[in-house]
Amino acid sequence: MTRVLIRGGRLLDPASGLDEVGDLLVEDGRIAAAGGQLDGRAAEVIEAAGAWVAPGFVDLHTHLREPGQEYKEDIASGGRAAAAGGFTTIACMANTQPVNDDPATTDFILDRARQDSPVRVYPVAAATRGLEGKVMTEMVALVGAGAVAFSDDGRTIMDAGVMRRVLAYSRLVGAPVIAHCEDRCLVGEGVVNEGPCSTRLGLPGNPAIAETVMVERDILLAELTGAHLHVAHVSVAGAVEAIRRARERGVNVTAEVTPHHLALTDEETLGFDTHTKVAPPLRSAADVAACRAGLVDGTLDAIATDHAPHAVHEKDQEFTVAPPGMIGLETAVAVVLDLVREGLLSPLELVRRLSTNPARILRRPGGSLARGEPADVVIVDPDRRWTYDPAKGFSKSRNSPWAGKALQGRAIATLVAGRTVYDADRGVLVP
Ligand SMILES: [Zn+2]
Repeated sequence: MTRVLIRGGRLLDPASGLDEVGDLLVEDGRIAAAGGQLDGRAAEVIEAAGAWVAPGFVDLHTHLREPGQEYKEDIASGGRAAAAGGFTTIACMANTQPVNDDPATTDFILDRARQDSPVRVYPVAAATRGLEGKVMTEMVALVGAGAVAFSDDGRTIMDAGVMRRVLAYSRLVGAPVIAHCEDRCLVGEGVVNEGPCSTRLGLPGNPAIAETVMVERDILLAELTGAHLHVAHVSVAGAVEAIRRARERGVNVTAEVTPHHLALTDEETLGFDTHTKVAPPLRSAADVAACRAGLVDGTLDAIATDHAPHAVHEKDQEFTVAPPGMIGLETAVAVVLDLVREGLLSPLELVRRLSTNPARILRRPGGSLARGEPADVVIVDPDRRWTYDPAKGFSKSRNSPWAGKALQGRAIATLVAGRTVYDADRGVLVP
């Protein structure tokens, strides 16, 4: 029997409400005991005094770019970046080349993940063939191959009839639909949030209403079909309020928000830095406040990175031409720890939004330190100060607005099924 003892950390288990200093014992890849002083006869002892010991983070929204765009990222590099960020599970989006819209591609991703990734990878399959928003994918076959959700992320399914059918069938196969909600007609050519900043920049604006309109539509369709709608990267006050009202009346809707939409406003775009170009765009201070309030009151269930790698030559273009997106796996926990430092969330509630809730949305194990659960664990030093240098990180890409910035808090060790896959001193260890 392989035993690992994590000693003297602050145990945070949102699933049970446990928040106390104590030991965590892992046996044969599973949680054996949590709390109190446990037997030290273990093959490996990890000292965690002063650190948080929590169920590993689960990212609902990662772009791994493999197959097809391995110059930006691949399953190996994205998996390593995830491990370094404290994530033990990532769900990867379907907008690869080819698109993950058939079981062979889902198979390929899972095969590659087993060989190359230190963390668990769950493929999200396309909802429509080629992400074209017209013809539904073969959902039964995709779930059979291992897809955990359906999404045309990066694009909105503009045809409400198609979206209705996607939701209805997703219910039959028992998987959520993750919706990228931006009405393309209202977005137009918009590349930054519509408002004073877009005016000052002289760039076309992407209005908040483009998101709110589509969130409202998808909520109505979820209500009609009884399906589980998960709204990706909520960024505006109107969308938060729409989701809050829908949940009050019992609609099966969950939602995520990204670290960047919690931390940055559209003022960041004023320097024309393409690292601040993202879809949906960075929004007004009022929208950021609404997203934070929504996360605190539980309207927004989860924090998801929308880790979107792009190469330097792609981001090094005019603002209107550069592709939207930023990487985020390695900086997420430092950025969202601000919510704890500002007194908005307790450590336990932050972990709930990074781990327990996203695991439940995916209907997969994880997010718990209960006895018998897989020993997917993160150890976080919430105080450690560091400067983020993407060139020294694990992602192949460098497109982060936090490059060169001083951050506070980071994962110091990550365990998947009881094996240490990342250690801040030694780097990524497996595979
Ligand atoms: Zn998206």
